[in-house]
Amino acid sequence: MKHGCEHNKSDRKQFLKSQVLPERCQHFIGGRYLDSSSGESFKKTLSAYNESWFEVAVGGAPEIDLAVKAAEKAAAGPWSRATATDRAKLLHRIGDLIEANVETFALAESLDTGKPYSETRNGDIPRSAQNFHFFGDLAAHQSFETWIGDDGSHHTSIREPLGVTGLITPWNLPLYLATWKLAPAIAQGNTIILKPAELTPLSATLLCELLNEAGVPEGVVNVVHGFGAKSAGEALVRHPGVKAISFTGETTTGSAIMRDAADSLKKLSFELGGKGASVIFEDADLDLAVPTACRAAFRNQGQICLAGSRLIVHEKIAPQVIDRLLACVKKIKIGDPLDDATTMGALIANDHRDKVAAFVDHARTSGAGEILCGGKIPASLGEQLANGAFYEPTVIAGVAQNSRLIQEEIFGPVLTVQTFKTAEEAIALTSGVPYGLSCSVYTRDGALAQKFARSVRMGMVWINGWFIRDLHTAFGGMKRSGIGREGGRHSLDFFSEYKTITTAATGSSQSASVES
Ligand code: ADP
Repeated sequence: MKHGCEHNKSDRKQFLKSQVLPERCQHFIGGRYLDSSSGESFKKTLSAYNESWFEVAVGGAPEIDLAVKAAEKAAAGPWSRATATDRAKLLHRIGDLIEANVETFALAESLDTGKPYSETRNGDIPRSAQNFHFFGDLAAHQSFETWIGDDGSHHTSIREPLGVTGLITPWNLPLYLATWKLAPAIAQGNTIILKPAELTPLSATLLCELLNEAGVPEGVVNVVHGFGAKSAGEALVRHPGVKAISFTGETTTGSAIMRDAADSLKKLSFELGGKGASVIFEDADLDLAVPTACRAAFRNQGQICLAGSRLIVHEKIAPQVIDRLLACVKKIKIGDPLDDATTMGALIANDHRDKVAAFVDHARTSGAGEILCGGKIPASLGEQLANGAFYEPTVIAGVAQNSRLIQEEIFGPVLTVQTFKTAEEAIALTSGVPYGLSCSVYTRDGALAQKFARSVRMGMVWINGWFIRDLHTAFGGMKRSGIGREGGRHSLDFFSEYKTITTAATGSSQSASVES
């Protein structure tokens, strides 16, 4: 793989075009790149420029079947004898190779998603490498549970690989989320078929080069491109040879996957939508709370399931919080994602931008809230970006709890503001949505913070911060935000089967009888 360059944005485009981008993102099956048997592909649109620079193969049932066969063959081969130490070394090698190519991956990811290069360079890609190192360490230090029964029998629960596992990932954090699933799946000795989001196929395609370089045996990791329903995604979910699906994406897609997986009774892990909140109490440190809440709302153009897309603030401090917030928003620099100065890039696609705009238009036309800033497509970004999927960071105040703007996931740069009088009211507003993924609470009162954290129906609560992750801990949500947890041992559990082996006590009468 060619190393990236730290030059200006026109050099970066040239570098990507001439040395990084494949003509077509092909499938990677059995260690080789290949096209679909139908020859079908589509032109990928780069959302910042509304231009197409490469194509993507569209896989379906035949490619999934080919990948399952390659994965089954690999599972039966030398991979089945790889030790935990072998797998840990492999994971560390992949992590090292991503680190060695960090700029190239960051540029490619930024181009593919439209998000700022500063975020991919300092966030998404280093974290993708860390996912491999983290699970490399964890895999090397797994221990099993052992008990001695009262009768002297000896019980050990070991973990075995599931076999062929399917990973379906979204477009908002492509490599970050693919590696978050790939690393533990490899750590546990599975073979894998990854179906990246059709809107962001690039980083997974580039990763395959590194998997070969790292010495991942052919067929252990396969990548099949394509769409979801009636395409590669659905074929993966329905294939009887696939034992588990780890999915991150929209809640409605989770329901469809659950239905399609029912016949083959697959193990499922779902990380779905969110409707996070930043809750600011009267005694909060506003120098910390307001900029963090602003970042929580607008990082990655608001396209993060963990986004704090609702600001819930004590009514006494609401005017000053709003003033400070608007000052923070003013500093956001919308522009070319490949430009170092850019802090807000393009949304993933023009039709997604239009969906986001429709929520704001609803506020405008129905009087559901007062638009304090933004609320439109930015003017004058220059000729190159004129047709890109850009939208101004938008703040809407005075929104009622039952409004669509509060109850539905917008997944864009739109922050609503609501006020509260009492802690009980703040808790009710935070929890009063169909989602239950995450929220932040800002206060100097430790007891209040704990009370709040214990009371809200959210899978993750940050006190005086946002998106602080330790990879050991459980990641996932309640209600319509997901099923199951990933992270640390939770990921290792998901990607393995327990088997309990019991040795009867020597001389025990039971050792000769058959018990159910
Ligand atoms: P997003 O809108 O965030 O992309 P989706 O849930 O539509 O969320 O997509 C996430 C991933 O799920 C993508 O890889 C997509 O192709 C895939 N997908 C969408 N629909 C299905 C489906 N019915 N079965 C399997 N995968 C699907």
